[in-house]
Amino acid sequence: MGDAGWLGLTLPPEHGGRGLPLRRAAVALQEFGYRGGTAFAKLSLQPEFSSVIATQGSDALRSRFALPLARGEILVGNQITEPRAGSDLSLLSTQVEGKGGRLLLSGTKSQAAFAADAQAAIVYARSGRAGATGVSAYVVPQDLPGIERRVVEDLGERWMRRGTVTYTSVEISPDQLVGEEGRGLDYLKVELTHERALLGAIYLGVARASWEETVREAGDRVVFDGPLSDQEAVAFPLVEDGTRLAAAWLYTERVLDRLDHGDRADDAAAMSKWFATEVALTTLDHAIQFHGGRGYSKDLPHEQRWRDVRSGALAHGTSEVMHRVAARRRWPKARRPAGRSRTPS
Ligand SMILES: Cc1cc2nc3c(=O)[nH]c(=O)nc-3n(C[C@H](O)[C@H](O)[C@H](O)COP(=O)(O)OP(=O)(O)OC[C@H]3O[C@@H](n4cnc5c(N)ncnc54)[C@H](O)[C@@H]3O)c2cc1C
Repeated sequence: MGDAGWLGLTLPPEHGGRGLPLRRAAVALQEFGYRGGTAFAKLSLQPEFSSVIATQGSDALRSRFALPLARGEILVGNQITEPRAGSDLSLLSTQVEGKGGRLLLSGTKSQAAFAADAQAAIVYARSGRAGATGVSAYVVPQDLPGIERRVVEDLGERWMRRGTVTYTSVEISPDQLVGEEGRGLDYLKVELTHERALLGAIYLGVARASWEETVREAGDRVVFDGPLSDQEAVAFPLVEDGTRLAAAWLYTERVLDRLDHGDRADDAAAMSKWFATEVALTTLDHAIQFHGGRGYSKDLPHEQRWRDVRSGALAHGTSEVMHRVAARRRWPKARRPAGRSRTPS
């Protein structure tokens, strides 16, 4: 993919990318998902997932990590989640501490993609006080002494080999800090907004592949003296799925267009990931169902596509958190009447 120029489609050429607007990149990603599944499409997005190195990091970090990642020479993971902190990142406890002139990183990161395969990872660790503001981003080579990596077995997207990475007093240098100290989660927020909308495009592409195959199957397979498509119980959900896929795609494109024009639109990006994931999962479930028992088997691709797309309701922010982002935008905290109790978290 690196040789073909398919990595980092949305990043500027000086960061190793293709410089495409988000909306145009989404057309390609959707097609990658359609032809090659989430693996192919999400590998294309790896440089975007680590774009904080290119946008905020030093020249040295950019040339050592961001550019080789965009060329497809290395993998760089993102380690944010911890066993006790996922949606609520103010609870992060992995820490960087100065001791006797040395910087030591300690803590456990969990659920991380490429846990055992990435050559380096952006580790979000607390370098200051408790809460969301004391977290910094560090690029950490994964072969340093004191790092232990363990892969977990997942429902889908097994190519990612997610897992847990434990840091025990790992010595890092101040040069590994990305951007300013304490700004890690601010940088992450910007990156996440774009990623969420682009991920929706991928899920819609994957689901479109199964939808087209199911429409063909319904026309070909004979039951009760006619094609399966004569049965309204099958035909009606399939035409609904086609409509929903088209509607979700139009919404996704519209959100990406807003982002391309500099609109913050974090709420719309969040809801576009949720909506695309829901529509894709319903479509894939129907693909399994209307292929009958074979749909449930690994002889056909639908079960794997469903398992892979299922991660869309969890990764890069859960569906519930997507709603929270949108609701917070609609009813900002500051506008809540004084004296009322705060919504939890
Ligand atoms: C395929 C996949 C790849 C991933 N890759 C990475 C990676 O590379 N790096 C990384 O750091 N992490 C990664 N993750 C982890 C992912 O980011 C977290 O799973 C996600 O942020 C949720 O955190 P959690 O698992 O701790 O769940 P929790 O935050 O504990 O949530 C548990 C449940 O509570 C709900 N919930 C939490 N808060 C609220 C609220 N305020 N309102 C309503 N409901 C709420 C959640 O939606 C969820 O259903 C990946 C996950 C998956 C599935």
